[in-house]
Amino acid sequence: MRVMLSADMEGATGVTAPADVEPGTEEWRRFRRMLTGDVNAAVDGLYAGGATEVVVNEAHATQRNVLIEELDPRASMITGRHKPLAMMQGVQDADAVVFLGYHTGAGERGVLAHTYVWSGLQQLRINGAPASEGRMNALLAAELGVPVVLVTGDDLTCAEAESYAPDAERVTVKFCVSRYAARCLAPSRTAALIREAAERALPAAAGRVPPRPDGPFRFDVDLSATHLAEFVTVIPGVELTAPRTVTYTLPTMIEAVRCFRAVTTIVGAAKETVFD
Ligand SMILES: [Zn+2]
Repeated sequence: MRVMLSADMEGATGVTAPADVEPGTEEWRRFRRMLTGDVNAAVDGLYAGGATEVVVNEAHATQRNVLIEELDPRASMITGRHKPLAMMQGVQDADAVVFLGYHTGAGERGVLAHTYVWSGLQQLRINGAPASEGRMNALLAAELGVPVVLVTGDDLTCAEAESYAPDAERVTVKFCVSRYAARCLAPSRTAALIREAAERALPAAAGRVPPRPDGPFRFDVDLSATHLAEFVTVIPGVELTAPRTVTYTLPTMIEAVRCFRAVTTIVGAAKETVFD
């Protein structure tokens, strides 16, 4: 079994503050080691559970967070940005995927909840239902016939994962108190929990193929300011459907996710520092 492990950072052990996940800060330097610990625990468990290859795909910010010098040598790592499938690069070559360090979506409760951009985007809906990165990525994986076998993050991320990946193992590494506070388990404890769940994950998923989601996929994106929504309509097919909402519909998830990346890249570029 070949496994792609998508490693985000907001849902990693101990992480609760924006500075913890902002590349270059003192806190980020500390917490990238914590993220690497979560990754290695999962890699160890996946191999114990029958994985033949584990590819870690960095999914956070600059996508250069995991410390390769500390990476389990059995794994390889896709590091660096501007990848065609971003958080899900490598899913095309995998038999199973892991969402590690994931978080809830913009507008939801949860530690460091957001969707792709930290501010400016208030909610994403896919075919009318609120969607986090986890839900979006699980739909993409399902379109390719690849099951999600393990999700780690805060308790609310794990609760949400039950709805989009009901058969996946889930590991709560912290319990949300507010968007910027959590009751966190110690790294030694979360490593043991992640390792045990990862070892169970592949045998539990054997022979399981997720149902292919039916397209087309309508994405509604609520933004925080009118100029952001108006500017995003430079993308062909993206229409303004309310003063702060843009909408587009595409036949497959691969196309819809790629368009969402274009939308969020433009939002990131068009935000002002004092106003949105
Ligand atoms: Zn994320």
